[in-house]
Amino acid sequence: MKKVQLNKYTDFIVEETTKLLNIDSPTGYTEEAANWVKVEFEKLGFKATKTNKGGVIVDLTGKDKKNGLLLEAHADTLGGMVATIKDNGRLQLTNLGGMNPNNAETENVRVVTKFDGIYEGTFQLNNASIHVNGEYNDTKREWDSCEVVLDEDVKSKEDAEKLGISVGDFVCFEPNVRVTKTGYIKSRFLDDKLSVGILLGLAKYISEKKITPKRALYAHITVFEEVGHGGCASVPEGCTEAISVDMGCVGDGLTCTEKQVSICAKDSGGPYNYEIVKGLVEAAKKSGADYAVDIYPHYGSDVEATLEAGNDLKHGLIGAGVYASHGYERSHRDGAENVLRLLIEYAL
Ligand SMILES: [Zn+2]
Repeated sequence: MKKVQLNKYTDFIVEETTKLLNIDSPTGYTEEAANWVKVEFEKLGFKATKTNKGGVIVDLTGKDKKNGLLLEAHADTLGGMVATIKDNGRLQLTNLGGMNPNNAETENVRVVTKFDGIYEGTFQLNNASIHVNGEYNDTKREWDSCEVVLDEDVKSKEDAEKLGISVGDFVCFEPNVRVTKTGYIKSRFLDDKLSVGILLGLAKYISEKKITPKRALYAHITVFEEVGHGGCASVPEGCTEAISVDMGCVGDGLTCTEKQVSICAKDSGGPYNYEIVKGLVEAAKKSGADYAVDIYPHYGSDVEATLEAGNDLKHGLIGAGVYASHGYERSHRDGAENVLRLLIEYAL
């Protein structure tokens, strides 16, 4: 089998993903990221529209308007929000999405105030000096045992308030994007910015190769996936099928690696549509995409939200394998390329 050369598009995916990863977008605070996404699709020649919720719908055109395919990826990420300003001026947080204090500890953060700009700080265990705190090793890392230490002269609640910090301010965790010589991509929030990058890669491919997809093809870059309702609204008219392009699970008992495209057969929301899963496997085989079919034990997706909202659609889920999900995640450019390869075969 002669495989299509996709190197150029994979380079583009990695570049675009890196740019998006460096725009903070915890769920609920996604405007800058969504605006960036809209412009990037427009630069490739496609019509992109913001939804009222703040997502972006892209018309990738295509022939059969009565049998449309919607691809969903999300630009929102995990994050934190100021829950309490403590008497010592430190900030206690509440989670946005499934952010976990265990793997957020010691991370640099940005606190976004509503009217007074952005402040830097670090998310630390309370009383974080191991030479002082005898309980350091035995303390469970929870939201109330950890705090943001602002890099400002703050000794009291009043000091923090004087800076303009208030309850409800968004807290963005540093993504720490790193692309290795060996092709690994390491960062927080590859879930699901890598997939947004992949859909931009697909758009570039369609545009440069002057392809008219056989079916109407749309992308929805959603912004509330991490809290469960990203894909609920804004299904373009005529869509009969929706596929979430989201992170593929990698871990004990599963077969996928970071270098493969994962096809999800079942997650916490039950089995994906049989016909679609079968079609995705066929497309992977036909295109030569290195793939794995897996069951995700603790996972829900945007496309399930689309169904739960009452849309009559067939649904599926694919994505590049991502290890250490919701922590310091790792994927590989080959994984992204395999998703693109499968999508070219399946959707165009
Ligand atoms: Zn995701």
